[in-house]
Amino acid sequence: MLYHLRVLLVFPLLVAVALLAAGEDMRHPPRVPAPARPGEVGNAGAAAPVAFWVFAHPDDETLAAGVAIARSQQLGLRNVVVIVSSGENTAVGQRLGLTRQETASDRAYETINALAAIGVENIRFLEVPDGQVTTGLVSEVVDGLVREGGHDAAFNGHSPYDSYAGMPCGHPDHCAVATALVDAWRKGEIKNLKLYRIGQFFDGPFGENCTPFDSDQFLIKRRMVQAYTRIDRRLGQLGIGGQSVPSAFSQAVRTPECWDSPRDNPTGAPDLGWTTGSENRGAG
Ligand SMILES: [Zn+2]
Repeated sequence: MLYHLRVLLVFPLLVAVALLAAGEDMRHPPRVPAPARPGEVGNAGAAAPVAFWVFAHPDDETLAAGVAIARSQQLGLRNVVVIVSSGENTAVGQRLGLTRQETASDRAYETINALAAIGVENIRFLEVPDGQVTTGLVSEVVDGLVREGGHDAAFNGHSPYDSYAGMPCGHPDHCAVATALVDAWRKGEIKNLKLYRIGQFFDGPFGENCTPFDSDQFLIKRRMVQAYTRIDRRLGQLGIGGQSVPSAFSQAVRTPECWDSPRDNPTGAPDLGWTTGSENRGAG
């Protein structure tokens, strides 16, 4: 009971989110919310400039760009986070005895909690099966976001210049997102594009632009990371992200976020060597 009270005191926001989402039974995590309608307003007003953050799986947004999203919030942008796949292929779900749907729901719950820590509520889970994210599919998503936010909207997502674990361009789902974003940029459909890496967590090279965290940003990153690593079954927190890529999460609070600018060269051909590391799940 004492512990329960302490949790209530320390994590009131998290508890509120859990209550809202899970209803009466806290032991069962909530179902994934339906994708928001185009134009739906998140936390900033509809007139605020919009920034879209497009990532393949739950946790990619926090690992790659958690502090960047927080900074964008602080600047007053209307931040919309799009998670393309449910990331249900992780072996952790099986180990915990979860169905694929339960794994997907629990992973989405972790993302909702991570982004709640920085006040981002406009999250869209597209629920594409893990490993089936294609460039064509993401291109359609990006087209829709351009219609919603206009050509001047800020776009952010995976970097095609990422490279790790023997995968130039990174995990195939990440690569599909990255390729679709750069294609849209080359066609002039989007102008403001930043491409965030995760390879630095898997012994890959850092990107063009890496900024060490200041003390406030360190705390922000740590809060977001905790949403993926904290395990409390009573609150429906299973720490799936943290168990799926433990080495990445163990480095996340002390490793800078890095982004690349898009390049004109159609192949991307970055002159960056990549090293062979290991990623211990299908969904990076
Ligand atoms: Zn991923």
